[in-house]
Order: sequence, then structure tokens, then C-alpha cells
Amino acid sequence: MTKKATPRRFTGNFTQQEAISDDAIDSAVAVMRSGRLHRYNVANPDEPSETALLESEFAKYQNQQYALALASGGYAMQTALRALDIKPGEPVLTNAFTLSPVPGAIDAVGGKPVLIETTSDLVIDIAHLEKMAAATDSRVLMLSHMRGHIADMDAISALVKKYNITMIEDCAHTMGATFNGIKSGCHGEMACFSTQTYKHMNSGEGGFLTTNNDELMARSIVLSGSYMLYERHDAAPPAKAFENIRLQTPNCSGRMDNLRAAILRPQLRNLDKNCLRWNERFVSIMNTLKQCNSIALAQPHPSAKEVSSSFQFSIPDFSDAQNEQFLANCFERGVELKWFGANDPVAYTSRYESWGYVDSSRLENTDQVLHRLYDCRIPLTFSIDDCEQIAQIIVEEATELAA
Ligand SMILES: *Cc1c(COP(=O)(O)O)cnc(C)c1O
Repeated sequence: MTKKATPRRFTGNFTQQEAISDDAIDSAVAVMRSGRLHRYNVANPDEPSETALLESEFAKYQNQQYALALASGGYAMQTALRALDIKPGEPVLTNAFTLSPVPGAIDAVGGKPVLIETTSDLVIDIAHLEKMAAATDSRVLMLSHMRGHIADMDAISALVKKYNITMIEDCAHTMGATFNGIKSGCHGEMACFSTQTYKHMNSGEGGFLTTNNDELMARSIVLSGSYMLYERHDAAPPAKAFENIRLQTPNCSGRMDNLRAAILRPQLRNLDKNCLRWNERFVSIMNTLKQCNSIALAQPHPSAKEVSSSFQFSIPDFSDAQNEQFLANCFERGVELKWFGANDPVAYTSRYESWGYVDSSRLENTDQVLHRLYDCRIPLTFSIDDCEQIAQIIVEEATELAA
């Protein structure tokens, strides 16, 4: 083999997203010139704000009646949980394999995360979910479609119905994805989205909450800090839905502002196109990784059309030493992999032991799945050729160490 002689190095930046487009910049500048950055600050009551327009457009995109734009995805999850009136210490079922804002949101509203096992396809373990639903008598499931992997939503919908559980979907990684041809986020009672820089739309920080439920959206709008200006929302239930809750619901300020809404509206128009671009890159990476016998890959559910803005793979047979060498070799060649098995997490935490405030017993299947699991984002600044190079480097290093 000649690769040792010419070890190609990848020089791209794994955290560099695409620039904000000129039309989005123009809209943002127009908002700044107007001085009306607060979502309820309109020149006249008939003028919809950028934020209200964005909400209507996002509700339409999601095929949901109502949408609320918020300060972050984590805040959207907190709002959904507060709207359901989670009581102190109340159990909330959720994935053991997810990102820290998910257990964080449950904790923030006083709930107690009940972590559910993970399958080798990186989705929630439905048998364990059923066991824990029965054992804890939980009212709420916060289902996280972590890294865009969508579980069998038919089975989960049947399960939550059977146990009378309200499902909130965490769609931070499934914006644009579908299951059975239905948008991810339409299977539960409410859905939460993030527009933080590393998600499918980028406003730095931001999030959405969607639902078809009048009362839950009315409560969510008041919770978000509407200063009783809820009639300035278009993707919202009629004023009478607010009558009984308007003075009973706290203001937990966490609104989106017009500046961020202005840069999101053009991005929403481009979202589906970008989803295709992510998937093209993902397919090219998978086609290379598939050729390596020691690499194991999650199988998507046949009814799911995912948007893969990142990829995961595992090398189950690696020893600790091989794992360490593999990560170092890839890094040396410019490929920064996140290893979910690390005892002390580097950057974002997705291993339940890193959430010391969560009371959980050992989850052996999750431990085993994360033990040799690697993760890598696919920013759209990477060309298909870049993606092929990255996958090639991974395969070369995995093959060499496995030999
Ligand atoms: C990013 C993310 C969120 C929400 O994140 P914010 O940074 O609060 O917008 C929620 N769930 C998952 C799985 C995420 O990756």
C-alpha cells in the first residue's frame, strides 16, 4: 500500500457553516434600520412582524396549525413541558442518548428525567420505553430524534396511546425529515426545533414549538412572554383560547426577536434544498464507510426519510488502545471525530453519566452502543469531494488498525 507514503490530510473546518445569504442580510439590515427589533414592536397593529411571519411560514412548512418562535431549542422544550404543567419531581421519559439540553430542559421545569435505553440503530429502545412507562406511570415522553435517527413512530404512537402519555418530539436534528411521509414533529402532541448554528437553520440561537392544540399553544405563547399581545400572533389559536389561561400562566420570557426571524425566513425557503445537499454528502460518506468490514452503521427505519447533517459509525472490535490510536490518527490527518464513549466528555455531552444531576441506574445497552461510537458533523461548506476524503481517511485508519 502506498498510503503511508502519501497520507493525505483533510484541511476543512468541521464547525464552519455557510454564510448567511445576501437576501437574509438585507432583511436583517431592514429590521435594524426600522429600530423595531422586539417582536411586538410594530409600526401599526396591522403590520405583521418578521417573527409573526416566520411563525406562519414555519407552521405551514410543518403542516401544523400553530408555531411559536423562541429563544432556543432548549427553551422550546422547557416551554412545552411547562405548558403540560410538569410537577416538581414528576418523571419524564426521555432518551438516554441525546444532547444535554434535553435532560436540562426536564430538570429546569422541576421534572425528573427517566432515561430510556438505546438500540444499535441509535434510537430509543421501545421495549424498555414500555417497561419504564409502566413502572413510573409517567404522563410525558420527550422523544429526542437524536442525530436525526427516527425510531418506529407507528410503534411509539401506539405505545403512548396505550399508556395515555403525551409525546413531545425533540426535532433539533429532524427539521425537514419525514416518517411515513409525515413531517417529523407531527406524530406527537407538540414538537420542538432548534435554529442554533449547528442545526438545519442558523440564527445563532433560536427555536420553535409547534402543535395543533389550542390550549397548549395559548399557554406556550403566554409562557414565552407575550405581554398580553398574543393577538399579534398569526399562527396562534383564537383569542378565546387565552381567556382562561392569560392570568394563570407565568411569563417566563424567552421570545425570538425580529432580527433572527428576518434571517430565518429566507433560510426556511431553502431548507428542503439544503436537506438534499446534506443527504448527498451523507450518501457519499456512507458508500465509502460501507466498504470497511470493521465499521458498523445504524440502519434507518424503512419508513423514515431522514436528513443526515452528521454521521455516526462504530468499530465494535476496537480495544481501548486501538480506539485511542484511531482517534489520534484521524485527528492527525485533519478528521475530528467525537467519541461518545469517552469517560470525560470533550465538548458537548451526550453520555448520561455526564449529567450528574440525573438519577439513573446503569443502562447496559446504551453503554455498549456508545462505547465505540464516533460522530462527525457534515457542514454544508464541505463539498462532496471533501466528504469522500473524510470517509476515505476514516476507512484507511480503521483498516490499518484492525489489521
Ligand atoms: C441542539 C439540540 C437541542 C436544542 O438546542 P439549543 O442549543 O437549546 O437550541 C435539543 N436537542 C438536541 C438533540 C440537540 O442537538
